[in-house]
Amino acid sequence: MELKNDKLMKYNSLPEYLKDNEYILDHYRPEWPLRQTILSIFSIHNETLNIWTHLIGFFFFLILAILTAAMIPRDIHAFTITRIEELIIPLNTTTTNPYVLMSTMISPILKRPITRFPFFTFLFGAMFCLLTSSLCHLLISHSEKIAYIMLRLDYIGIASLIITSFYTQVFYSFICFPFFFNLYMSFITVFGAATIVISLLPIFQTALFRNVRAMLFFSMGVSGVVPIMHKVIVFGDRPEAMLSAWYELLMGVFYGLGVIIYAARVPERWIPGSFDLVGHSHQLFHLLVLAGAYTHYLAGLVYLSWRDVEGC
Ligand SMILES: [Zn+2]
Repeated sequence: MELKNDKLMKYNSLPEYLKDNEYILDHYRPEWPLRQTILSIFSIHNETLNIWTHLIGFFFFLILAILTAAMIPRDIHAFTITRIEELIIPLNTTTTNPYVLMSTMISPILKRPITRFPFFTFLFGAMFCLLTSSLCHLLISHSEKIAYIMLRLDYIGIASLIITSFYTQVFYSFICFPFFFNLYMSFITVFGAATIVISLLPIFQTALFRNVRAMLFFSMGVSGVVPIMHKVIVFGDRPEAMLSAWYELLMGVFYGLGVIIYAARVPERWIPGSFDLVGHSHQLFHLLVLAGAYTHYLAGLVYLSWRDVEGC
């Protein structure tokens, strides 16, 4: 069935707010009614693969989070009377002093496994980023007002991914060093909050600020190098610290390459119009974000195994 007002258009016919990439010449959906815009998730246009790469990525991370929660040993949030009894009976202890019990039996067990909270915060940050990105690509062309809201949601999603990645790394690396723990945590919280606030300013969404926008997020990501280097210097003799650092280096390569391709708008810059549907820079950027986030997930697993064994 042919829907009304669902004709694809060329770049030159677009309203000004949708002119973002002059090297993608055709297959735009400018200002379709909301129903057609939503249903366009199932049709072919120049945003189809942008929507689906991150929507599939969202479900991939959702499944990953569920499998991870099911397969890795749980952390212990609190102990109960039942648990204390379970601990006491096999040891056949005669002491009833709760502090002695705590220090001799319960404390060492409470130390491991390490809390999973920061790791799952990262998985949540990744899922939030992927879902808001997918939603943004689906709805952005509906109207100027929706585009305004969606772009901001997209920026918040990207910032969430970077901030939660940073939190995971700093938490497990510096859990035993309160000064640096607090220093790095405060830094990324302030930087992340500032990036979100700045990216909410209207001027930030114009094509003119494409590179500024990319650089701000890039700098926030790059600042993660400092605690990673610090970790390598302090824990260089721990295989898990080194393995997680290699994963983080690979993650940096994926994200860095993604940002460069995003800002350079290649390959469509070289042959405008040839990559409208498949292969343009934003699709490559999306795939590299997925690769980077997955690499960070692998680093997260290494952190858990490190701290489960070593504690603090
Ligand atoms: Zn995107």
